[in-house]
Amino acid sequence: MKNLIYYLNQPGGTFQPVQEPLTAPGVGEIRLRILRTSVCQSDVVIYRVGLPRIKRWPAILLHEVSGLVDAVGPGVAKFQEGDLVGLGCDLPCGDPECLYCGKAGTGDWTSCPHTHATGHEFPGFARTHAILPNWLVESGPIVKFPAGFNPDHACQLEPLACTLEGMTRVNRCIENRVVVLIGAGSQSTYALQSAQKMGARKIIVVNRGADRLERVLRDFGDDRVVGVKWDETVVEKIRQECRPFNEPHFVMVNAPVRAAYELAVKVMGYNTVLDVHAGVKGAEGKPRIAHEVDLNNDIHYKLQCYQATHGSSLHGIHLAHRFLCENGLPRLDHMTNDTERFHHTQIREAIERASDADSLKVIINWE
Ligand SMILES: [Zn+2]
Ligand SMILES: [Zn+2]
Repeated sequence: MKNLIYYLNQPGGTFQPVQEPLTAPGVGEIRLRILRTSVCQSDVVIYRVGLPRIKRWPAILLHEVSGLVDAVGPGVAKFQEGDLVGLGCDLPCGDPECLYCGKAGTGDWTSCPHTHATGHEFPGFARTHAILPNWLVESGPIVKFPAGFNPDHACQLEPLACTLEGMTRVNRCIENRVVVLIGAGSQSTYALQSAQKMGARKIIVVNRGADRLERVLRDFGDDRVVGVKWDETVVEKIRQECRPFNEPHFVMVNAPVRAAYELAVKVMGYNTVLDVHAGVKGAEGKPRIAHEVDLNNDIHYKLQCYQATHGSSLHGIHLAHRFLCENGLPRLDHMTNDTERFHHTQIREAIERASDADSLKVIINWE
């Protein structure tokens, strides 16, 4: 048997399928047979223009993955052949003494100066098989799903984990609260479903484009969910929807544009937690987006919280794992319609579909 790997030769280039010999896992390693990968917006960016973090080309893209353990190296006790697993993207650095990633570390490995990620510095999963190194098997973001669990759901562990990191970094900001989601892409759609599961009082989804907003409201809406079209009266409309409160309790920026940051701070009031979840990056790098915060009046007296999350640690992975195993997002399948399912031989078409204005979650089948 061979390992079929799709190498992207360069940013904006082409995927080249290569067959390589399938090797056996070494001590502490496991081999995965990939079942599904889902496409992240970062994959679209890497495919089109690359990423400074990726120094070596050709590169193997895709980090949202589920697979079956199909061989286990000597000394592995955690996993057995046949286990269905899902993976996070951000990886511990592998140093057992690291203050962030090590055995006695904080677990905040996205803050480690040597943090790395699958599909970035570490090869991704655009391949039929992958051998995971011993440190990843031992302490990395890899979790087992029950036998027979849907691999389409297991591969969405990572994007859901990232969303949940943002929604749980501050305690008690979702349950019984008014939540505003800026953008109606996949991160907002996971956030919407998670807010429903976590018992939000009201969820206000703000988007510029009508197509995706309508899709999200139709497929995920309930009596707590409203959509707001992002136009020149958007601030007033959001405030109106927050009534009888004067402001939302939680605002999540899921649109990677400056205007989303500027909108978010305009609707903050008393007790509002802002999670700037999507960063803004262009060809020139990261623009400065300045906002004046009065530590006394805004932070102290208004109890405002400005925070950000990107990526996920084991906290988000374990929470996402629990939500998925409990079927806590019962409408998850609506994120992927028939036009968003591809075979691995159509990897380029899959990534291009993920960049469409109405698309939520593209899934690639590796079977
Ligand atoms: Zn992702
Ligand atoms: Zn580290």
